[in-house]
Parts: sequence; structure tokens; C-alpha cells
Amino acid sequence: MNVFLYHVEKWTGCPELRGRSLETLQVNLGLRCTLECHHCHLGASPRRKETMSGALMDRLLEWLRHAPCKTVDLTGGAPELHPRLRPFIAGLRGLGMEILLRTNLAVMMEPEQEALPRFLADMGVHLIGSLPCYLERNVDAQRGAGTFRRSLEAIRRLNRHGYGIRPGLPLTLVYNPAGPFLPPDQEHLEQEYRRILQKEHGLSFTRLIAMANMPIGRFQALLRHQGAERAYLTTLERAFNPHTLDGLMCRKQISVRWDGRLFDCDFNMALDMPVNAGHAGEAQLEEALAERLIVTGNHCLACAAGAGSSCSGALAA
Ligand code: SF4
Ligand code: SF4
Repeated sequence: MNVFLYHVEKWTGCPELRGRSLETLQVNLGLRCTLECHHCHLGASPRRKETMSGALMDRLLEWLRHAPCKTVDLTGGAPELHPRLRPFIAGLRGLGMEILLRTNLAVMMEPEQEALPRFLADMGVHLIGSLPCYLERNVDAQRGAGTFRRSLEAIRRLNRHGYGIRPGLPLTLVYNPAGPFLPPDQEHLEQEYRRILQKEHGLSFTRLIAMANMPIGRFQALLRHQGAERAYLTTLERAFNPHTLDGLMCRKQISVRWDGRLFDCDFNMALDMPVNAGHAGEAQLEEALAERLIVTGNHCLACAAGAGSSCSGALAA
């Protein structure tokens, strides 16, 4: 049974969720990553080989020329590892797109990435960096020993290039819980991050967003190992908040995978649940996508629980 849709119908009278205008294209450039986090819903790691072809990147640039999207959100794995990242970003900039890049931060400290912050700043790319906690032990437990220190060094380097300081160069940090519980209040958490990062480490950032852990991928495996999956789903269901439904990210964005398949979101991508409409680049695709019937499952409860969760943080008070 789709428990998520049961609750949607209970509150809206309609047992379905539909897309609206298409504002953002999320592009997954591949699954290779420098890290191998416990909560990764995509199972990314340094050993993954999947990567988007240059030909597909060219097709996307062509498609975006006429598509209604104003924003492109680059993800991975670690998008920094894609050999054609820079020309792709330059092409997007040429189209006047707003560009978001999701970074694990620590990757910025790899020797071959030294010049990347300068390039990103020149292109006006908005950075969204994951830092699951302001405490070293929690970050390293989730992401591997030494990750916290490298992440802070990366923020320091980004600050030197104006990120998190200059108005045109936002540096958003992303929190996610260390276990099977919902994120705390986003505003309060942001104040805590600011207190620790600014006062103790002299670092700046623009804002913090809090995301819930999805009960899929490696996090689901961990929940199962701990015998906590059912309890977590119950927590999510009990916290169902109908006020999140309007803002669910799948209603205004679409994700394209490294192989060109389309998904309602990054989470459906991880579950290999494609959209109800064609492939990137097809004629009239945007109309079909804007009104598409969104493919949902019980994992959607994580987006609608409590204050809600999306790629841009909480959805409701
Ligand atoms: S959660 Fe992010 S940083 Fe961690 S392995 Fe997955 S893609 Fe890489
Ligand atoms: S998991 Fe994806 S499809 Fe489901 S509610 Fe969240 S964004 Fe929408």
C-alpha cells in the first residue's frame, strides 16, 4: 500500500500528485564520489564508474535553450569529478541559467580541484555544500575519518573566494540527521551552525538547509541492519504535514540521470522509478513533464514529514 498517497487523499481529496510548472532541471553527472557516506541514497563511492557522456551534456544544453527551466542543479556523486564540468557550466552560463552545484565540500581539497573555486566564483555558481553536523565526531562517523577537517578547510578556501561572504556568491550548507529521526527546526539549527562555525572556526556561510534522511539506499540498509526501518517509517507517517504538499520539489523540477533517463526527483532516481513521460530532448517534453503524474512511494513520507524536506530545505513552518 502507498501510505503516502493515502495521506495525500485524506487531506486533498485526490489520490494523486501532479507536476506543475517546470522551473528546475536537476542533472546527475554520475555516481563517482570521493566519499562513501552511510546515509547516501544513491550508493555513490570512489569505485562507481557511471558518468554522463559529453554527447548527452550537449543535448541537454540544446534542450535547455528552449525549455522553461531557469535553474540547473548539478549533482552526483561528486559533480566536481566530471571531466566536462567546466565547459558544461560555461554553456549553462551562456544560456543565462541560474546554476547550483551540490558539493560534498571535502572534494574541493583534492589537489586537482585547487582552481575550481575561482572558476565557480567567476561563473556565479551557487554552491550547496553538505556538512551534516558542526561536530567533528558526527560528520566523520557518517562520512569517514578526516572529512570534517577537510570540509572546514574547503569552506575556508571558498570564503577566500567570496563564497558565503559576497551577496552574489551564496554558500548554502546542508544538514541531515545522524540517525532515524527528523531534522530539528531549521532556523534554530542555522543559528547553532553559525555560532560554532563562525565563532570557533572563523568561517562564513549564507544559510543552512535541513534535509530528512530518505529510507532508501545505504540509509535503508543501515536501518534494516539496526532493525529500525519500521519505526522510522512510523515516525515519518505520524509527522505527515499536508502543508508541505504544495512545495514538494518534484512539482516544479525534474531530474535527469547520467544515462539520460528522467525521474521526478533524485530519490526516485535512486529507486529506479522513472517519470511517466519520455526522455530528455524530445519535442514538447516540457509540457508533458509539467503536468505529469508524479511517481510516488512510501519513501515520499520523508519529504512530507514535519517541516518537510527538499533540495532547498524545509517546506513549511
Ligand atoms: S552522500 Fe553525497 S558525498 Fe556522500 S557518498 Fe553520497 S554523493 Fe558522495
Ligand atoms: S520522494 Fe520525490 S516524488 Fe516523492 S514526494 Fe519527495 S520529491 Fe516528490
